[in-house]
Amino acid sequence: MSDTDYDSDVPSTSTGAARGNKLPALQIKNMWASYKVRDKLRTVEQCIAFSEQNGLMLRTKLCTTHRTPMAIYGMGSADLGSFRCRKGPCRTKSSVSRAKGTWFENAKISLPHIFYMMHCYSGHYTQSQVKLENYVEGPCLSSRKITDWYNYCWEEVVYYQLEKEEHGAKIGGPGKIVQIDGSKFGKRKFNKGRRVEGHWVLGMIEDGSEDIRLEECPDNVRSTEVLIPLIQKHVAESTTIRTDFWKAYDCLPSYGYEYQKVNHSDPDNPFVAPDGTHTQRIESQWRVVKRVFQKDNYNNTANFADIIVEFLWRKSIENNRQDPFEKLIEAVKHTYKP
Ligand SMILES: [Zn+2]
Repeated sequence: MSDTDYDSDVPSTSTGAARGNKLPALQIKNMWASYKVRDKLRTVEQCIAFSEQNGLMLRTKLCTTHRTPMAIYGMGSADLGSFRCRKGPCRTKSSVSRAKGTWFENAKISLPHIFYMMHCYSGHYTQSQVKLENYVEGPCLSSRKITDWYNYCWEEVVYYQLEKEEHGAKIGGPGKIVQIDGSKFGKRKFNKGRRVEGHWVLGMIEDGSEDIRLEECPDNVRSTEVLIPLIQKHVAESTTIRTDFWKAYDCLPSYGYEYQKVNHSDPDNPFVAPDGTHTQRIESQWRVVKRVFQKDNYNNTANFADIIVEFLWRKSIENNRQDPFEKLIEAVKHTYKP
């Protein structure tokens, strides 16, 4: 799937012009496009060197007794080797696997396969694409293994993104406008006799920014008690909040926000920006978000909140024109510090 799928139907607003910006040449050069992963991370030796350079694996480790670098033993095609000190009584001590405590510990697939899977996950490949484009020698990747590694990557991304959110800045502030809307994701239909309920999601976006915040409403409740903490988590005080007539929002002023009611579905009363242009940004963002979620058939999953987090991770990479493969490595390193 191409990244542009996320925003292809966003109407041209005042911020739309930025989308046409070309990537700086250096950034393009540094992107781990498939040919580059195929070229630079094909052999175990290449993968080990890359892992050492990028802090995924230690190149040297000091003996705790002698404070001198230990030697690496037993490095082979399927083994990252072990650290062992050669001095004096240390010789009889058991060695420490170099994979211990790393992203690669207990991996059941080869290093080139691991990096290939990371590339596929960050590039949002489907299972069949993963199988089709697999260039790594050795046994084929089973569907089970692909699912496993997608889940490992996903966990790292969710964990990393949630931490980032916790320490991240809020949107809005005095004189700023944040549009808020709630929407139900998931088809309301009968599926083998079971009603699929879908998920209520609250979306928040500041005018003039690409930074969208999404929160799943716990248990699909949209009461004041649920909505206000979610808004306070993301939106700074004194922000002007534009939202619809849902009664749960009525108390916003008592939480330090300005409140402007708008009717999202009324074509005669659309959002009007100070410069007179219509800005139905949250609505257009919803269309984009909904289409992504429909396409990937996420509607029935129980982990919907985590899927939103993954979506926001991908969205932020796209907005900042970053390299998803490098960002995934960053997320992995956040957890695994060998
Ligand atoms: Zn020693």
